[in-house]
Amino acid sequence: MGKHDWENNEEIQIFREYLRIPSVHPNVDYTACVDFLKRQATRLNLSLEIIYPNKESNPCVLMKWQGQQPELPAILLNSHMDVVPVFADKWTHDPFAAHMDEEGRIYARGAQDMKCVSTQYLGAIRALKAAGFQPRRTLYLSFVPEEEAGPNPGMLELVQADYMHKLNIGFSLDEGISSENEIYNVFYAERTLWHVRFKISGTSGHGSLLLSHTAGEKLNYLLAKLMEFRAAQVKLLEGNSSLTIGDVTTVNLTQVCGGVQSNVVPPLLELGVDIRIAVTMDIAAFEKQIRQWCEEAGSGIEFIFETKDEFVPPTKVDATNPYWLTFKQSLDELGLKIRLLVFTGATDSRFIRQVGIPALGFSPINNTPVLLHDHNEYLRADTYLQGIQTYKKIISSLANC
Ligand code: ZN
Repeated sequence: MGKHDWENNEEIQIFREYLRIPSVHPNVDYTACVDFLKRQATRLNLSLEIIYPNKESNPCVLMKWQGQQPELPAILLNSHMDVVPVFADKWTHDPFAAHMDEEGRIYARGAQDMKCVSTQYLGAIRALKAAGFQPRRTLYLSFVPEEEAGPNPGMLELVQADYMHKLNIGFSLDEGISSENEIYNVFYAERTLWHVRFKISGTSGHGSLLLSHTAGEKLNYLLAKLMEFRAAQVKLLEGNSSLTIGDVTTVNLTQVCGGVQSNVVPPLLELGVDIRIAVTMDIAAFEKQIRQWCEEAGSGIEFIFETKDEFVPPTKVDATNPYWLTFKQSLDELGLKIRLLVFTGATDSRFIRQVGIPALGFSPINNTPVLLHDHNEYLRADTYLQGIQTYKKIISSLANC
């Protein structure tokens, strides 16, 4: 296929139409997304519901393809409608024009993260309907707001409103990350996120003295312990080629605040730290360790959690999970190789897993640079179309497993 064929391809046209909707942070207006999805549901003869889980919230769009055995647990195909901001001057093409070049590269914010997945689900359903396929399990497609930013992620609100149980969801697919080589990435877990603030109080006074128990000394002790821990994680990662960043705990100093002027020893200094805890770590023991370091540093350190996510157990990727076996078998039959990973960031899957529903993060994108949240985000038309075929296989298998 060449550029002319891609431009006239119905699936590519739908994808580009969705990419042209600037559902970009901050203050996203989801009206155009909802209208687009309503048109898609009509074309596919899927029922559509718009849900506002609480009064203040943004719309969640839910499509449904009723299964022949609706009493069976359903399959959820999740995606988010919002995209992260752009620095338009750094882009070679307008980030909301969905420009396609001669090679079939389609440039747009959301081309990888994750409007591609949304319309690929729809493309797969179109292909299945055309082939006369009838799902045994009910299929739901959720298109949620505020995944990338905002205090109320749509999926969290759906989960809090107990929607996943109301819909009797047995398994969910959500976004992954593209792979730069042939092997596709599949994510079965996420690390636990903490944003911690340390408010370090100490003796204040004149900068010419050697006062004891100063905030600076305490900060130095605590930071050294955190950095020692960080260095050990770096060593662990570097020493074992089978590990990826999602397998270790990351600690990063993100904020340092405090002080009045150079010759005044301040009564208070603050540290902001981003911590992502590996799924294999004992979280309670780690918290205890940090509290102990605060004590050792001298009293007067307040340990405040700005974000404290709870540990969410990974989705089982073994014989105990029939959905996993079906997913894996579909990819095997297509001859696609995968690697299992822990996601480095945070996606809606964590909310789904939190209520005990197995979820895998998978975007059918290989041999493509990882450009999510980056300038010149693009996806090749042939990769996109191949992804529809991949989903066709996976979705039909999951619906009938
Ligand atoms: Zn995303």
